[in-house]
This record gives sequence, structure tokens and C-alpha cells, in this order.
Amino acid sequence: MPDTRQPVAARRTHCPYCALQCGTRISGTRADAVTVEPADFPVNRGRLCQKGWTAPGLLAAPDRLAAPLVRGRSGRLLTATWDSALQAAAEGLARVRDAHGADALAVFGGGGLTNEKAYLLGKFARLALGTSNIDYNGRFCMSSAAAAGNAAFGLDRGLPFPVTDLSRARTVLLAGANVAETMPPLMQHLHQARLVVVDPRRSATAHRAALHLQPAPGTDLALALGMLHVVITEGRLDTAYIGRRTTGFEALAGRAAGWWPERTEAVTGVPAADLRTAVDLLTQSGDCYVLTGRGVEQHRQGTATAAAFINLALALGLPGTPSGGYGCLTGQGNGQGGREHGQKSDQLPGYRSLSDPADRAHVARVWRVPVGRLPGPGLRAYELLDALGEEQGPRALLVMGSNPVVSAPHAARITARLAALDFLVVADFVPSDTARLADVVLPVTQWAEEEGTMTNLEGRVLRRRALLDPPPPVRSDLHVLHGIAVRLGEPPEHYPTEPRKVFEELAAASEGGRADYSGITYDRLDAGESLFWPCPATPDPHPGTPRLFLDRFAHPDGRARFADVEHDGPAEDTGAAYPVHATTGRVLTHYQSGAQTRRVPELAAVAPEAFVEVHPDTAARSGLADGDLARVVSARGGMTARVRLDPTLRPDTVFVPFHFSGDGRANLFTHPALDPLSGMPEFKVSAVRLEPLPE
Ligand code: SF4
Repeated sequence: MPDTRQPVAARRTHCPYCALQCGTRISGTRADAVTVEPADFPVNRGRLCQKGWTAPGLLAAPDRLAAPLVRGRSGRLLTATWDSALQAAAEGLARVRDAHGADALAVFGGGGLTNEKAYLLGKFARLALGTSNIDYNGRFCMSSAAAAGNAAFGLDRGLPFPVTDLSRARTVLLAGANVAETMPPLMQHLHQARLVVVDPRRSATAHRAALHLQPAPGTDLALALGMLHVVITEGRLDTAYIGRRTTGFEALAGRAAGWWPERTEAVTGVPAADLRTAVDLLTQSGDCYVLTGRGVEQHRQGTATAAAFINLALALGLPGTPSGGYGCLTGQGNGQGGREHGQKSDQLPGYRSLSDPADRAHVARVWRVPVGRLPGPGLRAYELLDALGEEQGPRALLVMGSNPVVSAPHAARITARLAALDFLVVADFVPSDTARLADVVLPVTQWAEEEGTMTNLEGRVLRRRALLDPPPPVRSDLHVLHGIAVRLGEPPEHYPTEPRKVFEELAAASEGGRADYSGITYDRLDAGESLFWPCPATPDPHPGTPRLFLDRFAHPDGRARFADVEHDGPAEDTGAAYPVHATTGRVLTHYQSGAQTRRVPELAAVAPEAFVEVHPDTAARSGLADGDLARVVSARGGMTARVRLDPTLRPDTVFVPFHFSGDGRANLFTHPALDPLSGMPEFKVSAVRLEPLPE
């Protein structure tokens, strides 16, 4: 068939997937004929990964939701008009609220929503529904690093410096981050650096490392304490920096004294000599960065573990200096902005606190409501999902931009809780596993069909731009929130549907907050300015803040805090019934729950089904060979995966990607133990056994 594409439009925008938010230029006039090319944007400098190159495939997904659906008396989802679907959504929510109170309603958002959607969703939950129960899937992603960053520095911004600063690094410690697969264009900023990689797997990033430390899953905190011990005993501390810019070192030093290298080796499996080599690499040659990812953060001690790596960076005198730093690598596309503007259970826009009277008063003024209408903090993500349909828990739920049937830990339990709800509304652009359970499904726009802003892993605010009109029946999430809110009796003008208007209100709500966007406008972003928050309204124009903490940290005394943390190990250990650790993670071709990338043919062809990486000796002990089907079974349940033998894995550990649905869900075996500070589940360590499964 001849190529009849006649691009009449081209727009600068950003990839729909991860938090690097690579700059792209897209063109085309039909959903099935859009092309993408990388833009010369600082984070990706003309490069994209496979997901970015193939993102247009998502626009033409064959099972794209094309009309609202309402579950009929037959139990089947039936096509409906927008008016009747929004009416059904509003009536269902009102019915539950009238019978059981406002906290019987809940909202579950997503770290991929634009800032505008995340902001309006938080406002909708607190005012239109009046519930305290709103949280989002970013709780499963960034919450441990955020809690640790807030405690250490007084402020949480994933990278407190531009990604391009990494190009100067001589050494980078990557703890639990496989950037060569999760955000490949970032690797170009690390070419000059010697990498020290902490990962139980010999990942694609570990293959590039000068030194690969391969601790047992759940022992990263002990490893960080052991490295700190070496820093102290070998005289590598930056004592001038510690004295001038920090507090709390003495208590931590006492704790680290107990983690001599041989003890650390006994707990982690990392040779004592490698610990010393790692410290040599980090301290011998100029600019040095410590970066953490989900590998060390998704534990019941995730906050303490992230804090332990921050401790290490502080001991080396790195954060808030021009010659190094600490950062955590945000995962989801708007994982940064999504956690700043009010969809987190305890927060209001601008990183304001729902528990702070002054913060509440400011936001209530912007929202033009009495402050008493703002509820208090509610349940955190897993606790919220776990309570659905229970006697005292939420009985109706709105899900926007999330797929918890696949992404939540202990997935069989969460699927059962969703099924037990009195009423479920899902807004999505594809029939996700969660949407299939809903009473009302609302088809919404996706990346190249909508305007808005995203905030990437550096705290840089970006414009998402529309190339195409959405398919005729599809509406934006902002229209969904407006439509339900109005039907619940809210003033229409309080729920704008124009993204620019929502952003202006967001900026006002954030003014004076820790994540201050009040100096940012669409006009400035469209003029090509790269604006990092905080960007206050004064001076006008404020240049934004690419680098934080250069003069002082955000605590009132300007000093960073060391955290006195101790290793306590994972929630469950291996034993006779479940003899190996399973750890979960991402692969190059898929993103999060896979609801998007599994619908892109080129990506699905590369990784079509769930697999489990196993050391050959471990496989042989379970009667398995390469290519066999296996059950990966924990005390909570099991999933099905194709065996891939990998001799570089630890024999006591298997790896399973979490992108697959149905019986391929890794979260069927994961442990829901939570970090008490962040609410992060322990995705990264489960005790499992492998069982052969006939084809
Ligand atoms: Fe860039 Fe991430 Fe998109 Fe890949 S998925 S192109 S790394 S933004």
C-alpha cells in the first residue's frame, strides 16, 4: 500500500513513558501514521530507547477504548453515551457516600498523569467526594526515597541537579538502578564515569560497571553501612563538610562501627575486598555521585536503605556541592510532579501538608472553600487497596491512570478486594486488567492527544503537546473529573477542563510551598525555557532552580541530617519450603504494568510473556531446563513464567519482570510487608520455590 502520509503538523513533545521524559518531535495526521524522532533535548541529546521509538504504536492500539462503558444488568459492560456514563459514575459514588459516609469513597491515581490531572484529581477527591482516601501508584515507586530525602535534606526532588551534571562524574555509585535498560539514553551521561553497580543481578548496567557488587536481596542496607565503615576506618571522611553542613554523624558512626567488612560480607555475600575497592573508586578521583533506584528502595526498610546511601554520600561530602551529589532516579513519567500536587494521601499541592494549618488555609483560599471542607490525611496506597470492600474500608473507588490488578503487591488479594467493591469507576485509554472489573469505564486521551505539563526526574517542568485530536468519543481526564464533580453538585468553574487554566490554579496553590511553581507559565515553557522548581513568582521572571542545596539544605538550620539506621533484613527468609529469593524489576522493552507496551507490536514481539531468570544450578535442583515453563510460588501464591538460564545470577536468587498480566503477574508472589515510614511494599524480596509446569 503506498505511503500516503502527508504530515501537516509536527509538535515538540516528550516520550509518554519514563521519568527521563526524552524530548521528541512527532508528526503525522492519523493515529496509525504518526512518526517520532528524538529531539536535541538535554536529557536524551538525540537518542531514544525502543519504547520511545515505538510510542506511536500506542495511539493505534487495536483495542483502544472508543466509547464509555457501563455494566448492565446482564453483568456485561455495554456501550453508553458520555452523559449516561458520567451520570452512572456520579450516582454510584453518591449512593455509597450517602449510605456509608465520604470516607467510603476512594481515589487511586497514577504517576503517569500530567501535573494538571494529578492536581485536579486531588482537589476532586477532597472536595467533590469529600474523602480523605486518595493515594496513587507512585507510593509503590518513589515513596521511600522521598521520605529519606525529606528527612536528610528537608526537601525531596529526585535529582537535585540536572542530569547533564553527571557527564562530569569520574565515579558513579548506582545502587539498585538498571539504567541501561530502564532509561538507556541516560547512559550517555555516564560514559566518562567508572560505575560501581549494586544489584543482585548482573544487569545490563552491571555489565558496564568497573565494579559489580552483588548482595543478597534485602541486604543493601548492611552493604551501605559496611561501605561507610570502610570510609571511616580508612580515613576517607570529608570531616570539614560533615562539620560545616551536617548533623547527626556521631550516632551513625557508632552504628557503622559494627559493620566491619568481614561481617558485611557474611550478611551480604559481597567480598570484603570488593567493599574496600568500591570505597577506593568513590574517593580517589574527583567528581562522584551516589544514585539510588527501586532495587534498594522497594523494601520494608526502603526508607532506611535509601537513607543509608544518603549517609554514605554525606560522609563523602557530596550533596549540595558542585563536584558531586546524591539523587534517586524516578521511574514513572510524571513520578516527580505526580507526587507534588495533591494525589498523595497526606499532601496538598506544592508539597504542602494536609496536617499543617497554614498549608490547609492557603489551599482552601485558592480553592475558594472554607478550610473545614478539607479532610485530613487518608490511607496510603497498599493499605487503601487492602481495605477495599472491607467492613470499615472504602466501598467505591475511582481509578485514574493506574492498573493495580497487575502493579500492586499480593495481587490476588488486591484483585479480590477490587471485586468486592460496591462500585468501581476506571478512566483509562485501554481495557486494562483493572478496567475489566469496573462498573463504569471512561475512555480518556493519551500522550499525543493532550496538552499539559510533566515534571521529569530532575524537577524540570516540561510541556506535553497534542499532535492529534483524540478519536471522537474520547475525552480528557479533566473532562471526566469536571463531569462527575458537576453531577455531584460542585460549581462547574471549580473544575476547569482547559489544561492551561488548571495549571494556573496549580501554580497559585503551590505558591510559597516547597515545590513552588508560581513563576512557571505555559507561555514561558512554550518559549523554550527549561524551568526547574522551585520557581517562585518573584523575582519576575524567576530563572528556576536547576541545582538545589548549594548554599544550604532545606532544614531550618540549613544542615543535612545523617540518619541512624540499622539493618533488619527482609520480612521473610528462605527455608525448606521456599528455598530461593525472588526479586522483581523491569526489562528494556516494557514499562510498568505493561498495559501500554504490551500493546505495541514491536515491543510485545521481543518480550511476549513472563519469564524467570534462574542460575543453571538452581534450575537443575528444581528439575528445570532453559525454555521450560515453571511456577514461581511463594506463601501468597504463584505465577507462571518461562525459564531463562543465567549463570551470572546468584544461585540463591531468581529474577522476574513485573510487566505481565493474568497468570504472569509477578505480584502474585510478592510480599505486602510495608515500610512503616513510606508505605512502600517489599516488592524486591520474596521467598519462593520453583516448580516445573507441563506445557
Ligand atoms: Fe526516554 Fe524513557 Fe521514553 Fe525510553 S522510555 S525514550 S528512556 S523517556
